[in-house]
Amino acid sequence: DSSSGSSGFFSKRTFPGRVPAGIGRKSLRIVVTGGAGFVGSHLVDKLISRGDEVIVIDNFFTGRKENLVHLFGNPRFELIRHDVVEPILLEVDQIYHLACPASPVHYKYNPTNVMGTLNMLGLAKRVGARFLLTSTSEVYGDPLEHPQKETYWGNVNPIGERSCYDEGKRTAETLTMDYHRGADVEVRIARIFNTYGPRMCLYDGRVVSNFVAQVIRKQPMTVYGDGKQTRSFQYVSDLVDGLVALMEGEHVGPFNLGNPGEFTMLELAEVVKETIDSSATIEFKPNTADDPHKRKPDISKAKELLNWEPRISLREGLPLMVNDFRNRILNGDEGKGL
Ligand code: NAD
Ligand code: UDP
Ligand code: UDP
Repeated sequence: DSSSGSSGFFSKRTFPGRVPAGIGRKSLRIVVTGGAGFVGSHLVDKLISRGDEVIVIDNFFTGRKENLVHLFGNPRFELIRHDVVEPILLEVDQIYHLACPASPVHYKYNPTNVMGTLNMLGLAKRVGARFLLTSTSEVYGDPLEHPQKETYWGNVNPIGERSCYDEGKRTAETLTMDYHRGADVEVRIARIFNTYGPRMCLYDGRVVSNFVAQVIRKQPMTVYGDGKQTRSFQYVSDLVDGLVALMEGEHVGPFNLGNPGEFTMLELAEVVKETIDSSATIEFKPNTADDPHKRKPDISKAKELLNWEPRISLREGLPLMVNDFRNRILNGDEGKGL
């Protein structure tokens, strides 16, 4: 592909049977691991709608076919049931690597972060694809710097209950940089902060999905600890825009992708109450071990180098997920995943 010049955006390799993606750009063949999940399925929608070919690899651990069913029958879309812990041979231009048991109730289960990332990096190396890792703000642990910049090395307990996730993602970042330095693989690293939106797993215990589902079911919202811990919540379309900007930009990262608006869990409960049902109540429960006290991204680097920043505030974004949650809860179509 000599037309790609030095931009690095188009892959070094071309494949037969490629369809045009629109004026001035060849379509890409893109793998999205974890594409049947919450973030992955929204990313796949964006890539398909701009004209690319997308192959989803997912083992349906927490993801659901329902998140992609509207794409079945589209000739540019393919869904493979596969565990990324096992090797796989494909010919692709870009790899968005999202597959991961991504929440406290699930992530203790398997070595996806290490073995899955290694296999996808091996694949990227073999075919010359660009590889994007979806890492996490959890690499900062219970941060001693606030807000967190990408230069902060983190405060992570290596032997705690969350370590499999935190340290797994830290190892995934290490592997990614090793393949970049040692094997010349083009890589990108996103550190994603708490994200919410339609299609979030209803049973993975994250705070936004718990509160929204609880209020719809007329149950009290479960606030863990004193509820004064903070998080910053990003709407999923902002994240997807950031991931694509990162993949197509010229910078390896890592980049924080998150919304800097910071809320305590009590404030979040208040916004959910205002949005869905003014009679909603809360109940306090014991907090989980090693829960980070506060978290808020410094996104200056992404603003400057990717020209990206989130556009949707929590008050604007929450109403956008309520219908999806209501429909799934009413229809019993809740996707337990496991
Ligand atoms: P999700 O659970 O909805 O999606 C993860 C997907 O990966 C699921 O479809 C699951 O079935 C699949 N998967 C898990 N293990 C697999 C394996 N071994 N092989 C193949 N597929 C596998 O979670 P999400 O919120 O969409 O998260 C996507 C990515 O973003 C994850 O890497 C996660 O760590 C990262 N992230 C998300 C958030 C957030 O707030 N949503 C925050 C930080 C980082
Ligand atoms: N791999 C894969 N698909 C490929 C190429 C590699 O799944 O197209 C896997 C491979 O099986 C190995 C991992 O990626 O487990 C790392 O591959 P690499 O070639 O870097 O390492 P090696 O096989 O030399 O140890
Ligand atoms: N949390 C809560 N009630 C819930 C679920 C979570 O108060 O029903 C709290 C949890 O203790 C943490 C915060 O919400 O302080 C965010 O938790 P989540 O699991 O959503 O994300 P993470 O801890 O990975 O940032």
